[in-house]
Amino acid sequence: MNAGDDTGPALPWHAALWRHMAGGLAADRVAHGLLIAGTPGVGKRSFARRLVSALLCRDRTLGGDACGVCAGCRQRAAGTHPDISRLTPEDGGKAIKVEQVRRFSHALHLTPQYATGRIGWIDPADALSISAANSLLKTLEEPPAGCHIVLVSDRVSALLPTIRSRCQIWTVPAADPAVAREWLTARAFDPARIDDDRLRTPLALLARRDADAGALIEQWDKDLARLLARRVNPVSAAERAIEAERRLWVDWLYRRCNDLLLASLEGGAGTVDHALAEGARRVGRRRLEAWSRRVAEVARTAATNADWRLVVESVFIELSQYVAEATDPHER
Ligand SMILES: [Zn+2]
Repeated sequence: MNAGDDTGPALPWHAALWRHMAGGLAADRVAHGLLIAGTPGVGKRSFARRLVSALLCRDRTLGGDACGVCAGCRQRAAGTHPDISRLTPEDGGKAIKVEQVRRFSHALHLTPQYATGRIGWIDPADALSISAANSLLKTLEEPPAGCHIVLVSDRVSALLPTIRSRCQIWTVPAADPAVAREWLTARAFDPARIDDDRLRTPLALLARRDADAGALIEQWDKDLARLLARRVNPVSAAERAIEAERRLWVDWLYRRCNDLLLASLEGGAGTVDHALAEGARRVGRRRLEAWSRRVAEVARTAATNADWRLVVESVFIELSQYVAEATDPHER
């Protein structure tokens, strides 16, 4: 599956649908072609992964889930399972091409390494070109023994009717807003101002937040690098941070402070980019250690009603003083 994919905790609004699937798994009556459908953001891939994981496991739990520890489960989690074949658009293209389908169908006919049989994963299935879809029909109609083909699609209506009719369709339901609210809150997402309609697709909300967070973090990293290079004054560098969501920013600050400390160590291979690592080495470990005590204080203050602007500015001012000291030893 995708790098870093894990079965993860089951999504609560999938429970009824999963019970149905678990019954099929227990009775060894899972269809050979399965089309996982549903609105974007309801967790179709999560459901599909859970299913594939269960199909590849040799010691499933009573609830029908993969055990997570058998040889098959371990290989799947490591992304090295030999019996999974994926069919996705290649080279950043949008369509799945007919040559890809030929290779995919061929792979599915090879003898599986495990007795659990081969898995074909097609995602998104609506990316199949017409000729690719036609080429897939035969494999879908007469799949090799023990093989399961899982298709995932946001737009089932865009699939050829001949593909649809050869699959058993599993429509992942939208979340109940109350269930979604609780689930999102447990993931540090505040659902207070989200209307019920958007709450029905909770994963879309999280994906959006992560994308926004990624952009913010990039900006904060830039501000920090400029501060370390003395190209911005601490009060302006603090401006963006003050407006940010506190928890996210404090978390970033805490991690970056540790990253800078690591990068400042002799030969320390940091996880930060070049500009930040350079800055960290200039400031030096001793000063960064002093700064890290201030950072820890900020983390403690975040939940209080201290003047947040002053707190954020002071952490930047202190760092800029260390930068100045390191750059010009007479300035202190
Ligand atoms: Zn297992």
